Amino acid sequence: MEPVRQILRHKNAAVKFYEAEATKIDYEKKIVKISDNSDIKGTINETEVPYDMLVIGVGAENATFGIPGVRENSCFLKEIRDAQAIRTKIMDCVETAAFKDQDSSEIDRLLHMVVVGGGPTGVEFAGELRDFFDEDIKKLIPEISPRFKVTLIEALPTVLPMFSKQLIDYTESTFKEEHIEIKTKTMVKRVTDKTVEAEATNPDGTKSMITIPYGLLVWLLAMHSVHWLRI
Ligand SMILES: Cc1cc2nc3c(=O)[nH]c(=O)nc-3n(C[C@H](O)[C@H](O)[C@H](O)COP(=O)(O)OP(=O)(O)OC[C@H]3O[C@@H](n4cnc5c(N)ncnc54)[C@H](O)[C@@H]3O)c2cc1C
Repeated sequence: MEPVRQILRHKNAAVKFYEAEATKIDYEKKIVKISDNSDIKGTINETEVPYDMLVIGVGAENATFGIPGVRENSCFLKEIRDAQAIRTKIMDCVETAAFKDQDSSEIDRLLHMVVVGGGPTGVEFAGELRDFFDEDIKKLIPEISPRFKVTLIEALPTVLPMFSKQLIDYTESTFKEEHIEIKTKTMVKRVTDKTVEAEATNPDGTKSMITIPYGLLVWLLAMHSVHWLRI
């Protein structure tokens, strides 16, 4: 993430930047109400910014589609603090898996990293997760490292559905080599603190419910995916 002031420093145009939340727009008076929602506050926390022309670019939200348990149990990945929280959770899973006399099935659960969403960010993140483990963590816990597993879940028939078949094939074969399991045609229905419950479409077209135990669950569906899934 590039700080906005850093970018503006190199521009000649007159741009004023306020770190604030736009809370209300008055279209008649052509005013945006802004509020300082940061931790440190001055005496003035709310004010107005007049405009001639208004551009709104507030980005997308993580989409949970109202699936029970997703918001409470998943990690999201939008901001730097999300990435830090994910890293902390990975290390916590690793240390708990390495705890003296840890139950064998619990080790497998804790070292199972599940990524939901086979779009570009999900694919990139699953690959990075495997690399992070292989390059950094493996040497710290050699005794349990073979049990570390990454699974990528996607509801559609392929990952990266917006890209060419060549790129999809390349991703699938690379993930196979790197032991990242791809579960396509798998629609998450419910999430608990330790499991993902999903409806999988079998090769013969029948559907069955599967339960996937996890240590870390990263949810990588953004709002724009809504249309994809509904179509
Ligand atoms: C993990 C990750 C990796 C990605 N990697 C790539 C990549 O490699 N290449 C690529 O092209 N794209 C990548 N993307 C996608 C890219 O980040 C987005 O497409 C892009 O940031 C969208 O820009 P935006 O300006 O529309 O929204 P955003 O970047 O989300 O910006 C919107 C801003 O509006 C602010 N905001 C929201 N509501 C208010 C309000 N009420 N008042 C004031 N401010 C508000 C938000 O805080 C935010 O800073 C990635 C995304 C993620 C999450």
